[in-house]
Amino acid sequence: MEYDVLIVGAGLFGLTMAERLANVAGKRVLIIDKRNHIGGNCYSEFDPETGIECHKYGAHLFHTSLENVWQYVNQFTKFTNYVHKVYTTHDGVVYPLPINLGTINQFFAAAYTPDEAKVKIAGQAASAPANPQNLAEQGISLIGQPLFDAFIKNYTAKQWQTPAEDLSPEIIKRLPVRYNYDNRYFNDTHEGLPIDGYEAWFQSMLDSCGDKVTVRLETDYFTDPEIQKLREAKILTVYTGPIDRFYDYQFGELKWRSLDLEKEVLDVDDFQGCPVMNYADLEPKYTRIHEFKHFHPERTSNPAFADTAYAPESGKTVIVREYSKTWHLGDEPYYPVNTAEDRAVLARYQDLATKDTNIIFGGRLGEYAYYDMDKTIAAALAKFDELKQRL
Ligand code: FAD
Ligand code: UDP
Repeated sequence: MEYDVLIVGAGLFGLTMAERLANVAGKRVLIIDKRNHIGGNCYSEFDPETGIECHKYGAHLFHTSLENVWQYVNQFTKFTNYVHKVYTTHDGVVYPLPINLGTINQFFAAAYTPDEAKVKIAGQAASAPANPQNLAEQGISLIGQPLFDAFIKNYTAKQWQTPAEDLSPEIIKRLPVRYNYDNRYFNDTHEGLPIDGYEAWFQSMLDSCGDKVTVRLETDYFTDPEIQKLREAKILTVYTGPIDRFYDYQFGELKWRSLDLEKEVLDVDDFQGCPVMNYADLEPKYTRIHEFKHFHPERTSNPAFADTAYAPESGKTVIVREYSKTWHLGDEPYYPVNTAEDRAVLARYQDLATKDTNIIFGGRLGEYAYYDMDKTIAAALAKFDELKQRL
């Protein structure tokens, strides 16, 4: 079959581009992935022993305030009304996250009103500069030194193994700070999980394209002989793999953090009582534990699901302990470390990319960006609009 466009990577960026290219521009698309499944890092699978949906590459919660993205994704899946809540353990005590009035009052054993808490935290944040330049300064300016030391400093040290002074302030700006008792983890207008799981959502995107899109799994862009022919023919390509790999690491490797995800099936109904428990201290070494059944309470508590594929076995649960680790070639790249040195190397690769006009780099690996799912989709929709002019 003849193709108009090759897409490298069946993650959210690649899938969104494939869907738009096929359904809006009428193009014939070949989408390849070196893994044996679609969905990239958002992929999940139903654990065969317990029936619990487990997110293979770390927990993924969908949330967005981008109306165009919300409308787009709702064409392919319905979302549950799941609202993400996270707790953290510090010094043997459990606190709610993100930092809110509940956290502040529990930590200081106080009963501050919102205004009193603001005054207290402003006093403790006074040492931070007005224009924070790194994660430490940003964190202290947001929540003051004592809360930073308790909840951010050591967690960030475990997560990034890079001094907070060398990390971008953007990383911590993701977390809201609230002077009320609202402990929703995200601030966004829309939130939920795909009702039938992530794979069903992504398959529905592909199904909508009919025979315009062909998917080939376990196919590596750099080694597959068929793909080599398409490369030689200079087919228009959307590349969502790592940009430094594309250019043979000629300016060096971009730094990533990787993860070890240690899965365990336990013979208890409820291990921790919440979906995610963070561990704010240097011990234990893991940053957090995910307990996946809590992501879909509608499947466990609703008798309507009793005889369906979504009825997790009672008396069992699946947990995943998440450890952060330094990335080495061959490990999964998860979080871009994004130091000033990385940004300089990235700029050199991006300069080369401007000369490769038949290759479009996109997604978190292709752009070396810390994109949430909605931002990935938004970036793909915008890139498609730009490309449409050329097609
Ligand atoms: P990916 O999903 O990584 O897809 C890229 C694909 O390209 C991969 O499948 C890869 O196998 C393939 N590929 C690479 N090289 C080649 C090659 N040479 N040949 C063929 N195929 C190749 N976002 C949220 O909104 N909410 C969350 O809760 C959330 N949690 C996250 C937790 C973790 C641990 C991480 C790391 C990210 C999280 N994200 C979350 C972000 C989310 O994962 C990304 O926004 C999304 O996966 C980006 O999609 P992508 O298509 O750019 O990349
Ligand atoms: N963070 C922290 N303590 C926490 C949670 C988060 O210090 O209990 C910091 C940490 O640096 C982390 C960043 O805030 O990398 C962003 O947190 P988020 O939960 O958004 O990270 P993700 O889910 O993307 O790993």
